[in-house]
Amino acid sequence: MTNDFPHGTVRGYRRHLKEKTVTCDDCLAARRTDRAAKERAREAAGKPPRQRRTTRDARDA
Ligand SMILES: [Zn+2]
Repeated sequence: MTNDFPHGTVRGYRRHLKEKTVTCDDCLAARRTDRAAKERAREAAGKPPRQRRTTRDARDA
């Protein structure tokens, strides 16, 4: 077990992925919060929300 694991942060979430460990609730929550904040920032900037599926039309817009 490592003591410097940044649980509860997006860095921690990424580290889970990198080390192929199960993402803990703290890291999942941090990542969700981070994404929500970024989505809100995008909306505030007048940009459409990011979509999971790649839409061909969106690239030229
Ligand atoms: Zn974690």
